[in-house]
Amino acid sequence: MGEQDEDLGAFDPNIPEEGPSAPPPGWLDVIHGYQGHKGGEEDNPLYPPPPAYNPQPELNRNTVVPDIRVPTVSEDVAREALLKFVESKWKYSSKPARNLVFKELKPITVYRYRLETYTETRTSGWQFEPYNGQAVDGPQYGASPSPWDVLMALPPRFSDRVEKVRVPHSSLVKPCHKCNGCGRTRCGHCFGRGLRRCPFCHGHGSSRNKRCTSCQGRGRKRCTFCHGHGYKTCCVCHGNQSLLHFIQLTVTWKNDVSNFIPDRQPDFPDKKFENVTGDPFFVDESVLVYPIQGFPDQEICDVSTKLINEHLNRFRSTSRILQQRQSIEMVPLTHARYSYSGKDFSFYVYGVENQVFASKYPSACSIL
Ligand SMILES: [Zn+2]
Ligand SMILES: [Zn+2]
Ligand SMILES: [Zn+2]
Repeated sequence: MGEQDEDLGAFDPNIPEEGPSAPPPGWLDVIHGYQGHKGGEEDNPLYPPPPAYNPQPELNRNTVVPDIRVPTVSEDVAREALLKFVESKWKYSSKPARNLVFKELKPITVYRYRLETYTETRTSGWQFEPYNGQAVDGPQYGASPSPWDVLMALPPRFSDRVEKVRVPHSSLVKPCHKCNGCGRTRCGHCFGRGLRRCPFCHGHGSSRNKRCTSCQGRGRKRCTFCHGHGYKTCCVCHGNQSLLHFIQLTVTWKNDVSNFIPDRQPDFPDKKFENVTGDPFFVDESVLVYPIQGFPDQEICDVSTKLINEHLNRFRSTSRILQQRQSIEMVPLTHARYSYSGKDFSFYVYGVENQVFASKYPSACSIL
C-alpha cells in the first residue's frame, strides 16, 4: 500500500489477514492407521489391505465346462432381421430383402470369455466444517478403528458405488486457520480501512480544479467489497471462529470387466459383439476364480489364465477383492449368403438380439 493510503479510514489491527484455505501441514495430528495426511485436498490411499486378508484361488479344482450347442438361425429369422436392418437405413430399399434367395446359412461358433473382479478400495482425508456446538466424536471416546475395520454395509454384488463416512472418534475442534479464530478476515481490497481511493480523481478530491462529484471532494469512497466495514465474515468458518475436523473415509466398490472374443471371422468386425448379448452357458463365481481348463477352445483357456493373473496383479495390492465371476457365452453369429438379381451377396446375423451387419446390400439404383 502506498503512503497516501495511510490516512484512509480506521483499521482494526486485531482482524487478521486471510489465512490459507486448507489447514497447513502439521496443523492436525496423525491418527494411527491414517498416516500421511497432509491436510490437502487429495485423499490418501489406504493400502495394502490388512495382511489377514489374502484369499487364494482353490487349487486342484478343475473348472469343467458343459457341452455347448451351436445356435441356428432359420431363413425366416434371417430375412426378418435383414428387413429390420434395411428399414433403419433410409437409403436402402426393402425389395431385395423380401425377394432374395438364400443360398446358405452358416452358423459360426463364437465364444466370449468375460472376467469380472469386484473390489473395494478405501481412501481417507481430513475434512472440516464450521463448528457451532455440534457433537464432537473425539479420541476421548476411544481410539479410531483402523481404516479397514470401519464397518460398512455392502452394496449388491458387482454394483459400483461410492460411500463416504466419518471415521469414529477422529473429530477435533480447532481455531479456524483462515481467520485465526477471529471469525472475520481483513478486507484485502481496502486493506481493512473500509475506504478506497476514489478512482475518478485518483484520491485528489478534485480534477482540473473542480471538486470531484464522485467522492464529494473527499478523495476516497466506501469499499464496495466489505461495505465499508474493513472486514468480511470468514468464508471458511462462516464466523464461527472454530472448525470441526474429522477424517473422512471414502469407500469405493467397483466391478472391473474384461472381455475377450477370439477373432475367427475376419470379415466380421468384432467390435459389433460389444453391443449384443450371448447365451452364458458357463458361469463360475467365487472370491477368486481359477483358470478354466479343458475347454475345447484352447484360446479361451489361455485367456482365462492371462486375465485372471492380470486382475490379481492389478487389484490385490491396492484393493480388497470381494468376488470374481468368469463366464463363457456363446454369441450367435450366422453368415447368410444369398443371391438377388443374379448377383451374390451376404450378411451376418449376430447376437441374441439378431442384429445384422451387411457390408454390401443390393441398392435399388444399381438394379433398376
Ligand atoms: Zn473523487
Ligand atoms: Zn474493503
Ligand atoms: Zn474462520
